[in-house]
Amino acid sequence: MNISTAILTIDDIPSCNTTTMVDYLNEKKIQVVMFAWGEHVMEHPEQVIYALQHGMIVGNHSYTHPHFSEISFEEGVKEIEECERVLDDIYHRAGIERKFRPFRFPYGDKGGENKEKLQQYLLQKGFDKLDDTRITYPWWKKDGLDKDIDTLWTFDFAEYQIRPDSGFTMEDVWKRVNDHSPASGGALFDQGSHHIILLHDHDETRELVPDYYRQLIDQISERGVAFEKPAFIDPKGCCH
Ligand SMILES: [Zn+2]
Repeated sequence: MNISTAILTIDDIPSCNTTTMVDYLNEKKIQVVMFAWGEHVMEHPEQVIYALQHGMIVGNHSYTHPHFSEISFEEGVKEIEECERVLDDIYHRAGIERKFRPFRFPYGDKGGENKEKLQQYLLQKGFDKLDDTRITYPWWKKDGLDKDIDTLWTFDFAEYQIRPDSGFTMEDVWKRVNDHSPASGGALFDQGSHHIILLHDHDETRELVPDYYRQLIDQISERGVAFEKPAFIDPKGCCH
């Protein structure tokens, strides 16, 4: 029985194994928004073409994945536009129409003092806002996240922290999944709740836990999280 609903987002694509992840997602009938790291797309274009041709939506995650609060507004725009060029080209090569243009800031860093300018820029350039109208966390609105054009998340598995010597393991990821703390997005299994879930596509994680994404998605699905097809809303209806 479904307890809650979620949109799954996968950051930092492509890796060398994005196609395997895409096959798994299709097997599970889960459509996701994948946020592409521009320079990685240049290295493994075939992985992104495969994702597009197999139903995934690919959004902009900047070209070199900087902290936007540590670069100027102009540099930020350049990062976004360079990734846009790469994505336009890759959609074209895949033969897929680019219907949506979502954007996610690397590290969720919205640009510090340039935050408002960057939001205005995203709005003016017609970036698409992921539908967040059913998110029930009070902090989502209190922090103005419902007004922002970029795509943040409500729950982060933080599995990217699993690295040799980091001391962070799947155990820690499971603790996050099971930790009930709505104030930080930890309410995955609350009846009627809605989430934007963040996962990453990292070969470095696969080296240590080859099936990490299968484990996570399978288990939360079994426990009642239903993944929904991503939908977008007109951001002009909620501009700053
Ligand atoms: Zn990222």
